[in-house]
Parts: sequence; structure tokens; C-alpha cells
Amino acid sequence: MDRRDELALNLAETRERITASCLEAGRNVDDVTLIVVTKTWPASDTEILFELGATDVGENRDQDARIKHDELGHLALTWHAIGQIQTNKAKSIAQWADVVHAVDRSELVVSLAKASASREFPLKALVQVNLDPSPSEGRGGCLPVDALRIAREIDQADGLEIAGVMGVAPLNGDAERAFSALQSISREVISQFPQASWISAGMSDDFHIALKFGATHLRIGSSILGHRSFKG
Ligand SMILES: *Cc1c(COP(=O)(O)O)cnc(C)c1O
Repeated sequence: MDRRDELALNLAETRERITASCLEAGRNVDDVTLIVVTKTWPASDTEILFELGATDVGENRDQDARIKHDELGHLALTWHAIGQIQTNKAKSIAQWADVVHAVDRSELVVSLAKASASREFPLKALVQVNLDPSPSEGRGGCLPVDALRIAREIDQADGLEIAGVMGVAPLNGDAERAFSALQSISREVISQFPQASWISAGMSDDFHIALKFGATHLRIGSSILGHRSFKG
């Protein structure tokens, strides 16, 4: 099977599974955005996915993303920076990303705001919350108690727009508990910032659970592109 056929099949299957999970969760599939996580795969895959109707792509390494965006930035795609961000990468990320998912500290808000000053449109930002019960084990993210404060800092920063919250379920942990906690935090954030309605949650293996807890943006890579040969 050539790559286009493979991606077409996987994308169609994933969409069917999303639709079925939405039905089961009593959610409207139109309220859910699929972000295809193209990290580690070549720009040619991103281009094929666009032709197959993908609207949103996720990348986690600044350097790779920048190269792909240089080549494909003219396509009508929304580019999501989904991974943890080193402060010194903010400037570069603000040049290719439309949305950053992993804003988890004040220092990063300041750097992203500075980097976004010259943008035509504000950079949408999500507060990443650490959902691991023992936070030192977590994959980035602020403590739940700090989420509202960081949301406020984003809201007050020029060049940034608070769009919602993001979380990753703990490895080998309880995804239901994690996504339920994220949904509660989202409600708090929305009560202060009604426009911040996005919940970025759910990956290939757990999106069906995230959908039960209000996920609006799913970040799905391996189900569509295949297993990455190295950790992205
Ligand atoms: C890689 C990655 C994903 C996609 O994971 P899959 O298991 O391949 O679907 C989602 N979110 C983040 C933050 C990632 O780094």
C-alpha cells in the first residue's frame, strides 16, 4: 500500500472511532477538532494529510516544525505546538505556531508575549496542567492550583489569547481521574475567561476517555501515521 492510501485509511478509521466515541459520550462530533500529530514524520506526510482533509497539525520540536512550516506554511492548516517549550524557543515558535498547548509557567508567558508582539494575529495559548498525582513524574504542566493564575497572565499579555487548557494523562495512571480533573479546571478557567473553552486532551490510546470529559481538541499521532521509530 502506498503512503497516501495508508494515511487515507488510517485517517478515515480514526475519524470513525472519534464519531463512535462522541456518540457514546453524548457529544457532538462537530464540537471536536482532530489535531493530527505529525511530529517525526516528513513534510510530505503533512501535505498528503492536508489533501485528505486534515485541518490541524501538531508538532513538538521547534526545529522540525519550522522546516515543515517553511515548506507548507501556505496551506490552510492550523499549526499547533504541542510539546514542552524551552523559554529560549519562544521566539521561533511564535513564527510558525498558531496555537501553543504547553504554557505552564509565567516566564514562558512573558517570552511568548514578547515574541508575539509582531504577529498579525494573536498566538492562542493553552495552560498545560500537570495531571499526575505525583507531579515530579509528570510530563510538564503547572500544578492544578496555578492554572487560573497562568490563564490570567496569558489573558493580560499582549499578543496572546487564552484559549483553554491542555493535559496529558499520566503514564500507567488513571486517565478517567486525570481528564475529570482537567474538566473541573477548565470550568474554573471558563468562569473567568468565557472564551477559553478549549480542552486539549486525548491521544491515540485514550481519546475515547478524554471525550467523556469534554475534550474539544484531540492530539492523535500514531493511530494515523504509524508508530514513530524514535520517541518524539
Ligand atoms: C506525541 C504526542 C501526542 C500524540 O501521541 P500518539 O500516542 O502518537 O497519538 C499527543 N500529545 C502530545 C503532547 C505528544 O507529545
